[in-house]
Amino acid sequence: MTIPVFYADFPKACLCRYLTIVVVCLTSSFVHAQFRPLIKKFFLGQDSVRLAIYDAGGKNFAFVHVHENEEASLQAGLTSLAAFGGKLITLQHSRDGSTKRNVTFRHNKTTFSFDPNRIFTHDRSVLAASITVIKGKGKADNSVIEMVDALARAIWDELAGYPLIIALHNNKNKPSEYSTRWLFFKHYEPESYSITSYVRKFDQVSDSNKSCSDIYINPAINNSEFFIVTRRSDFDQLLRLRYNVVLQNDRPVDDGSMSVLAAKNGIRYINAEAKHGRITEQTAMLRLLLDAEVKK
Ligand SMILES: [Zn+2]
Repeated sequence: MTIPVFYADFPKACLCRYLTIVVVCLTSSFVHAQFRPLIKKFFLGQDSVRLAIYDAGGKNFAFVHVHENEEASLQAGLTSLAAFGGKLITLQHSRDGSTKRNVTFRHNKTTFSFDPNRIFTHDRSVLAASITVIKGKGKADNSVIEMVDALARAIWDELAGYPLIIALHNNKNKPSEYSTRWLFFKHYEPESYSITSYVRKFDQVSDSNKSCSDIYINPAINNSEFFIVTRRSDFDQLLRLRYNVVLQNDRPVDDGSMSVLAAKNGIRYINAEAKHGRITEQTAMLRLLLDAEVKK
């Protein structure tokens, strides 16, 4: 495990005013305890989403973590925040002590659900399609769409002014398979999302494929670990470093994902993807990225 080192200046009035304390942290939990997040509570109907905002100083980049259950990417992000500075925003919304990908909330005797990486759009029809009713007889009317849109704007506003957004995600990395349900029904599960989702396969296009301009795949790296970038200069840089990378094209499908909104606003955006649980690998990916960043 990497051992992060913290430097903290004492206040002037302190006897040790010119001394610098070097704190060596031996556990990652201790690392994260160094940063107390600012919590902003955002109400959605009867429920709420907490925006936990960690600020380690520096205005060069901000990390964003929207899928609560992708815990490895959050750990890797917090370790990188300690090492390189910046800001990190994460969403907290589960009410039962677990962590969940989708946000659910109750409003007008109906329970709604949405993927928090499908809400960053100015297209109301895309946003409306992102919100599903999972219980009750209500529907995603204007008031519901407004609530979710306001959350998206609140998250986006936290990232304002940062020239680089680094998104943190994890994927399942599972091949296609048949599973048995209800004792005898076979259920087909397609292969999970990976860098090969961007490859055009068997003459069939997908939204991922349609949004992709270039791909570099290093055969020595697993298909779960890759970057998605919106700038060709970042693609070229990661290609030189021989790391798996996808370049989003300049006409990506608007599915409400933050990468599309960032590109539309001309903001540099890099998504770091790794398999669930791979904290070490994802921390190394972020170090590769940020080491190159600080040398610029
Ligand atoms: Zn994710």
